[in-house]
Parts: sequence; C-alpha cells; structure tokens
Amino acid sequence: MMHAYFSADQLRHHGQTFMVAGEARPIPEVPERAEILTTAIKRLGLDLRTPDDFGMGPIAAIHAPEYLKFLQTIHAEWKAVGGSDLVVPGIHPFDRLGPYPRSPAGKAGFHMGDTSCPISATTWQSAYASAQTAIAAACQVRDGNARSAYALCRPPGHHASRDIAGGFCYLNNSAIAAQELRLKYDRVAILDVDLHHGNGTQHIFYARDDVMTLSIHADPRDFYPFFWGHAEERGQDAGLGFNHNYPLPLGSGDDAFLAALDRALAMIDHFSADAVVIALGLDASSDDPFGGLAVTPGGFAKIGEKIGGINLPTVLVQEGGYVSNTLAENLFQFISAFQATTAGSPE
Ligand SMILES: [Zn+2]
Repeated sequence: MMHAYFSADQLRHHGQTFMVAGEARPIPEVPERAEILTTAIKRLGLDLRTPDDFGMGPIAAIHAPEYLKFLQTIHAEWKAVGGSDLVVPGIHPFDRLGPYPRSPAGKAGFHMGDTSCPISATTWQSAYASAQTAIAAACQVRDGNARSAYALCRPPGHHASRDIAGGFCYLNNSAIAAQELRLKYDRVAILDVDLHHGNGTQHIFYARDDVMTLSIHADPRDFYPFFWGHAEERGQDAGLGFNHNYPLPLGSGDDAFLAALDRALAMIDHFSADAVVIALGLDASSDDPFGGLAVTPGGFAKIGEKIGGINLPTVLVQEGGYVSNTLAENLFQFISAFQATTAGSPE
C-alpha cells in the first residue's frame, strides 16, 4: 500500500490576498485544499502518516542560508518597524549585484518575487512542515521501503527558487525531494504537470546534469509565471539539454496534454533516470478556478497511468490545484491509475 504524508502544521499558514489586475483578491491556496485532498487519500485507502522531523539539512541542501534566515525572522522584523501582520514586497531590485539589503522592506523585495507569497507569523512553520512531508516521502522511496509515496505538500513549492519565494511557494518541496533521492540515485528527473511552469525548480537545477527538469504548463507568454517556461529554455553549462519545457496553448485539453506528456516521458527514458519526482499540480483541471487548461478527471487518470508506466521509483509531491468540484476526484483518478499500472512492479 502506498504511504501518504501530511502534517497538521501545514494548515497554519493562510496568506489572505494577492494582487491581480491591480486589485487585491483572495489567495486560493487555502488550508481547505489539504482537507479536500485528504478525502481522496482516505478514499484511496492510502496509509496516511505524519512525517518525522528530518531537520534543516535537506532544506539547506537546496536553499540559501540568508533566505532560510529571512523566512524565519522577517515577520518579527517587519512588525518591529511598524509593518502590518503580513510581509508583502513593495519594491524589487533591478538586479542582485548590490550588498545584501539591511531593511525589512529591502529584504522582502530581495527574497519575494511577487505579492502572492505573503509571510505571516505561522508561514515558516507550515512551509517547514510541508518540506518535511516531501522529505519523508522521498526517504520512504530512497530507503527502499516502497516503490512510490505521496507527499500532500501545502504550501506548494515549485515557484520557489534557491532564494526567492513566489506563486504561493516558499520552500521548493519537489527540489528538496529530488536532492534526497540523489543521495542514492545518480540520475533523478523532476516532471512537473502543474498548470503553471515550475520556474523555481528549473532555476535551481538549470546548470546541473544530474537532475533533469521537465514541465508541462500553460504557455507563459499568456500566463503566470510570464518570464520562464518557454520551449527554448534548455539549461546552461553542464545542464544544457537537461531542462525541457512543454508550453501548451490556453484551453488545451486532454489530448494536447497527453501528447506533451509522451514527449516528456520519452526524454526521461532517454536520460535513463533512476528515479522521478512528480510535481503533481492538479490545476490543469477544466474545473480549476485558474482555468488555464482543460484536463478532465479521465485525463488525470491517463496521466497517472502513463507516469506509472515508466516504472521508476516515484515520489509524488503535491503542488497546485485549487478548490473546485473535482479537486479530490482528480487526485483520486491520478493515484488510482498510477497504482493500477504499477501494481505488478517489484517493491
Ligand atoms: Zn499551479
């Protein structure tokens, strides 16, 4: 039976509002998401566990020391100079060549990419717990206890780079899980099926040839994160040829998504990956409030079946996917089909 991981501490963060089209709107990355996804875990009969605390080591293997300090201390610093209860950036540097900023406003602009990742008094606690959930799932697979595991990560992670939060993300759970797998496996692939390009994950591994990053998403010329996710971005230096993007036109449905998935899975095969992390966003759903792509519950079943078909040690890391009538159903369909395909595999 597949194990799933989740910690109640992950429910403590609630970001409230972010700026869209010049106005403050509710952040859809709400604690309720985790409760809805948990209903799918229970329906699947997965063994739901609270993760152990693996400490800061696996997180510090991905994120910069000053960024980890920032996430833990900025809320108190911000309040001490008269800031509100949520840290939100109001200014960003042209480049990152100057000295490290001293003021809370400067630090916020330096370490936050947009307004969608506000930091409250409880944000660090939830982000840390979400990372521990990913680490627990990765260790379960890496240590040979299971062929696959599911991490119900919330807040999500794939928009967070080495030292910048963004897009509801603080710690890059998928990247942290991949780095844990690297302790055993020589070649690890991260396949991101979230509606949005996994720009943080791409940035973290862009110059590396030991972790291949692949992302299927709505075309960034029309959609968040806007600056990254184009097909021309292939990696740099040793990492050239180890980053692959599959942007899809807005409104694309199951067929276009599955065709891109076939190409991505062929690339993972060509890479001879030893293990894979699936950055499992469910917001490509036709029912998702973001409305960028139009994948059906049956489409998520086919995605799960195809990913199960590559028959590699697999860590499923929850990314996006927002409250809709089919959020739980989409996770159920994906994992059911994934498990049915991998049922005969050796443990
Ligand atoms: Zn997303």
